[in-house]
Amino acid sequence: MKKKKLLVLLLIFSLSFACKDAKKSEKEIDSSTENVEETADAKKILKTKGDEIKIIPIEHATAVIEWGDVSIYIDPTGGPLAFKNLKTPDLILITDIHGDHFNKETLEALDVSKAKFVVPQTVADEMLNEFVGKLEVLANGSNIELNGISIEAVPMYNLREEAKDFHVKGRGNGYILTIDGQRIYFSGDTEDIPEMRSLKNIDKAFVCMNLPYTMTVESAASAVLDFKPKQVYPYHYRGRPDVSNVEIFKKLVDAGNQDIEVVQLDWYPNEDF
Ligand code: ZN
Repeated sequence: MKKKKLLVLLLIFSLSFACKDAKKSEKEIDSSTENVEETADAKKILKTKGDEIKIIPIEHATAVIEWGDVSIYIDPTGGPLAFKNLKTPDLILITDIHGDHFNKETLEALDVSKAKFVVPQTVADEMLNEFVGKLEVLANGSNIELNGISIEAVPMYNLREEAKDFHVKGRGNGYILTIDGQRIYFSGDTEDIPEMRSLKNIDKAFVCMNLPYTMTVESAASAVLDFKPKQVYPYHYRGRPDVSNVEIFKKLVDAGNQDIEVVQLDWYPNEDF
């Protein structure tokens, strides 16, 4: 019996190695194991595609993506403690000038020594002097490849007359990241603009939904049903929980297209709602 069990274990062990990407170095395997241990809060971590891409919600609009050795911070805010136990960033993407996306105190307190920043011009204009040499400025519609990741800047802006001054067209960037063939969209602060509705081949869409700064859950669901991502992750919905009811968003998307999976992560670990 004992021998049989050992054989089975050995088989599983060799199979799991056989399944590993042959190109993956030993170092990468080691570091990805380390990351799982370091950030072992299972509730908070989304693992995708053989654990190679991890998306970690921090809070509200702030997220971290880890892919092998590469760490990407999206709109880092919340101070350095929000990122403790996470790898230092290789890339920092900032969508807009507002404080829930661009927080100088957090940037100053983090170890950004090896990071490149991808920002719109308006963020570049307000950036701390010490980081100006690290900036890659993208306008809507332009793109760049960094650390093996393609980053495309897409529009984000308000449509409603009374909200137009919150986010003027051309000021901020949503981003589409292509990582290992996966297209991951972060909407930034936007309404259901035509550019969002016409997005193509999105695997994971992080879509904002709150008033007055972005849009209603109804508008967000309607746009998502148009561009049909494989998965949609509601984010950036704090503000008025009575308006930003993500359960209603999920119901609308489910009713409109059952092929789109709505995934709810814990974006507000410090809040009750
Ligand atoms: Zn915002």
